Amino acid sequence: MTDCLFCKIAQGEIPSRKAYEDDLVYAFHDIHPLRPTHILAIPKKHIASLAETTAADEPVLGRLLSVAWQLATENGSPDGFRAIINTGRIGGQEVPHLHLHIVGGETPVGPMLCKI
Ligand code: AMP
Ligand code: ZN
Repeated sequence: MTDCLFCKIAQGEIPSRKAYEDDLVYAFHDIHPLRPTHILAIPKKHIASLAETTAADEPVLGRLLSVAWQLATENGSPDGFRAIINTGRIGGQEVPHLHLHIVGGETPVGPMLCKI
């Protein structure tokens, strides 16, 4: 997709702090980290959100999850981490290119959700 921030990051057109790359996935450090470890793992191909996926996307969806632990341990979160995929308006997704947040550090990330 031509005008997508994360497509441009995956293609190297916009700089990022790269954490990992393979044939399907690119990962980089979040520009505004919410925890000491905060990595974003994205499909290299444009997928707008988890709500736009089909069975054809299963290889890349599986890869995003299967590299998460390696990314956490290599980036300061060796005792566990949290994986988050915000989806659409209700999920609070701000960037319309599917991304897996990998958050952690040396202390617990805290409660899963705040009460509303
Ligand atoms: P979400 O709210 O789930 O869509 O998360 C979007 C994330 O992208 C936020 O945590 C932002 O800090 C992060 N972000 C936005 N622009 C950039 C960028 N240029 N480089 C790295 N992270 C970014
Ligand atoms: Zn994109």
